[in-house]
Amino acid sequence: MTSLLSHLECTLCGLVCDADELQGLCPNDGGVLYARYDLARAAATLDRVEIQTHPPGIWRIPELMPVRDSANIVTLGEGGTPLLKAPRLAGMLGLRELYVKEEGLNPTGSFKARGISAAVSRARELGVTAFTIPTAGNAGSALAAYGARAGLQVDVFLPADTPALFKKELQAYGAGMRTRWTA
Ligand SMILES: [Zn+2]
Repeated sequence: MTSLLSHLECTLCGLVCDADELQGLCPNDGGVLYARYDLARAAATLDRVEIQTHPPGIWRIPELMPVRDSANIVTLGEGGTPLLKAPRLAGMLGLRELYVKEEGLNPTGSFKARGISAAVSRARELGVTAFTIPTAGNAGSALAAYGARAGLQVDVFLPADTPALFKKELQAYGAGMRTRWTA
C-alpha cells in the first residue's frame, strides 16, 4: 500500500504544509488544512475493476487515505453503509430518484466514525498518544471508541446539558469527561 498523500493545503489562503509532520490549523489564518493527493498518479495507476475486489469501507482505496503504513490503521469496520432508495420522499421533492445513505450503521452510530478512524490512524502514525475534542455527542463517542481500540487516551469536553446516553457511552469506552464547557 502506498498512500498518494502529497501535502496539506489551507482552505482559506492556499498555504501548503508538510503532510508528514503533525499540523494543527493554518499558521497564517487558522484555516482548516485539507489533505491533498496526487490524483494524476491515482488516475494513471488505480484500476477501477481491481478496486471492486477490495472489502467495502473507508479503507477500500488505501492510496487515497492518509496512512503510509497499514499497520497504523485503527478501524472498527466503518463505512460501506447501504444506500436506501427513498421513492416516497423523492416524490414529495419532485425528484425522479433519491437515495439515503444509512450512516447510522457505522460502528459508533454516526458518520463521525469515518473521519475519526482516518484522523486517529494518521495521528497515531505521526506519534500522537492522547486526544481531546469538544463535542455535543457523536464525535466524542467516535473518538472515545477509536481511542479505546488503539489503546490511546481520550478526553472529551461536553456541554453541561449533554444527554446521559452519550455520557454512558463515553464512560463505557473509558474516556475522560469534562462537562463545564457550555456550547
Ligand atoms: Zn491559511
